[in-house]
Amino acid sequence: KERNGQEPEFLQAVEEVAETVIPYIAKHDIYHGKNILLRMVEPERVVTFRVCWVDDSGEIQVNRGYRIQMNSAIGPYKGGLRFHPSVNMSILKFLAFEQVFKNSLTTLPMGGGKGGSDFDPKGKSDNEIMRFCHSFMSELFRHIGPQTDVPAGDIGVGAREIGFLFGMYKKLRNEFTGVLTGKGMSWGGSLIRPEATGYGNVYFAQSMLKTKGDDFNGKTVVVSGSGNVAQYAAEKATQLGGKVVTLSDSSGYIYDEEGIDASKLAFVMELKNVKRGRISEYVEKYPNAKFFKGETPWNVKCDVALPCATQNELNGDDAKALLNNGCICVSEGANMPSTKEAIAEFHKAKILFAPGKASNAGGVATSGLEMTQNSLRYNWTRDEVDNKLKEIMANIHEACIEYGKDEDGYVDYVRGANIAGFVKVADAMLAQGVV
Ligand code: NDP
Repeated sequence: KERNGQEPEFLQAVEEVAETVIPYIAKHDIYHGKNILLRMVEPERVVTFRVCWVDDSGEIQVNRGYRIQMNSAIGPYKGGLRFHPSVNMSILKFLAFEQVFKNSLTTLPMGGGKGGSDFDPKGKSDNEIMRFCHSFMSELFRHIGPQTDVPAGDIGVGAREIGFLFGMYKKLRNEFTGVLTGKGMSWGGSLIRPEATGYGNVYFAQSMLKTKGDDFNGKTVVVSGSGNVAQYAAEKATQLGGKVVTLSDSSGYIYDEEGIDASKLAFVMELKNVKRGRISEYVEKYPNAKFFKGETPWNVKCDVALPCATQNELNGDDAKALLNNGCICVSEGANMPSTKEAIAEFHKAKILFAPGKASNAGGVATSGLEMTQNSLRYNWTRDEVDNKLKEIMANIHEACIEYGKDEDGYVDYVRGANIAGFVKVADAMLAQGVV
């Protein structure tokens, strides 16, 4: 706290882990006297840099770029890049810290990192995005590499941005390697990577429901966000028989009582990914739906909630509203969308609750599969990748049960994910000595 007092999101993420991992350390002699958690909360390396670029009117703009290389005990640093005006050291350190545990849970050899910029992609032309990405990579390329650090997308960084970033990296290094994931299919990408985080989240929720003899069929599902994760979470939930009734963005949420079916979702994907419009435009196309300006969707009656927008978007009161409306399962697609108070409510009510580091790990897991395919110079089929994703999500679910089952049979997935993620990284750090 003394060292990171100005970083509330980072402290929040560390506290959540510490509360579950410290009691575990206390019971296991091998971790005693090693200050293992203290070492884990200090990034191995942090880089910040100036990103200058010229906007369409000819004016020079300046943004700040970051890369947090948090932990490389079990593999090269791996984690996304976020472009959003809210980006700062606290947010990136929380994301990098979470990433260490998440990547460990996937069972793939990936360390944890995160990066990005306070650049706001909203309203920028394709050329401005390209100039920004090229400038950003003209510094970042020094710090990353396929054996060192492999960034990917996150909020504000999708296929378009990864393309521009990859193009500049390739030019500067004069080599074609899998240095970024989330690449296009014709230049080293993996099938299912765009879908993986959203699909993986629903696969995880499916495993949780199965422990109660239940499934998605006939369930009303509330989704927040309307970006990459939200779109594919909505798609998979619908394919499994659920009825998705909401989507949102930072301006509010839409409620469609009839359900956002495949054709309506295709409209949203076009709206968000191609036209880069606002979710409120949904009600112009489908007038039976309603738009709630400036609100989040947690007051809507549902069985399953999938928060897929951003951190701290679901607070204690929202959790109470969900519980009062009969929600039985919350599976996080975003990173840390539920506040500490919200998680306490879910645990008190003993409903199924999955923290993002477990339930949204499908994205980075499939990025890991993209790295493997790049190394092999080979592409697996859609089914091959999807089956591996399903297997990884099922294994993460099992690991959470192994470390998170209470005496009364309730599964605390937060504790399960934190301890399962911790053990592998901690053991590797111990084996490698004090470095
Ligand atoms: P996108 O940029 O594709 O979409 C983000 C969505 O969240 C948009 O609908 C956006 O609305 C909304 N949003 C962003 N910031 C805010 C905010 N401050 N308040 C309200 N809404 C907001 O990002 P992704 O879908 O990739 O990421 C969503 C979440 O999932 C993030 O927490 C990310 O870290 C996490 N995640 C993503 C992975 C991936 O593979 N992409 C992997 C694992 C986790 P608007 O357009 O108005 O900004």
